[in-house]
Parts: sequence; C-alpha cells; structure tokens
Amino acid sequence: MICKKCGADIGENRFCPQCGTPANAGPAQQTQGSPTKVLVFGIIGLALCSTGILGLIFSVIGLVQASRYRAQYGTISKQANIGRGLAIAGLILSILCLIAYVICVIVLINNWPAIERALQEAAAKSGGRYTYTFNY
Ligand SMILES: [Zn+2]
Repeated sequence: MICKKCGADIGENRFCPQCGTPANAGPAQQTQGSPTKVLVFGIIGLALCSTGILGLIFSVIGLVQASRYRAQYGTISKQANIGRGLAIAGLILSILCLIAYVICVIVLINNWPAIERALQEAAAKSGGRYTYTFNY
C-alpha cells in the first residue's frame, strides 16, 4: 500500500513509517450512503410495499442513503439512481397500501354492527339447520 500523503510504501503497516499518516486515511471511507445500500433498501422497500409500514421504512432508508450519497460525492451513481427510483416507487406504493388499510379498518369499524349481525345470522342459520336435522 502507498501512503496517500507522502507516497512512501506503507506495506502491511497501519501507519506510514515516513510521515505517520494512517494507512486507511483519505476519501476511501464509505461508511455512509453506499450505492449498494441505496439499491438494496430500494428493492426491499418496493418488495414490501404491500405490508404498508415495513415498505415505508425500507423505502425511506433507501432515500436517506441516496441523499447521503449525493451529499458525500456531489453526484449520484447509476446504481444508486436505480435504487432511488425503486425506493420512490416503494414509498408511493407503501403509502397507498397504508391508506387502503386505514380505509378498510374505518369501513370495518363503521359497519361493525351490521357485520356482526350478518355473522350471527350466518352462525344461527348453520346452527339452526344442524338442530333441525338433528331433531328429525
Ligand atoms: Zn507517508
């Protein structure tokens, strides 16, 4: 390995023997906003959009990764851009699924007495037929 500061050969040392610069110093640190993470979270977010909340979480993580990536490098790679597109699609679909679930719950709660009555009637019908045949 070559020292990024003075150009001396570091070898397997963790610090440069010439100037003392750490071997892994420089712009090689990719702890934040990797394009692979953007892509992976984008795919998971889109795949889980039917779950609503999970799809939303993963899509948001994907978008956060994408914006971090752009903040870090000033531009966005093709891979990260695809991941960002998937994350946006996952985010929109997740929100739509969440809205659909909320509407389902509201409809269910608002119509619960009627639904309960229908269930009781169905149970009474099958129960009534059973006792009818049993009695004969
Ligand atoms: Zn050096």
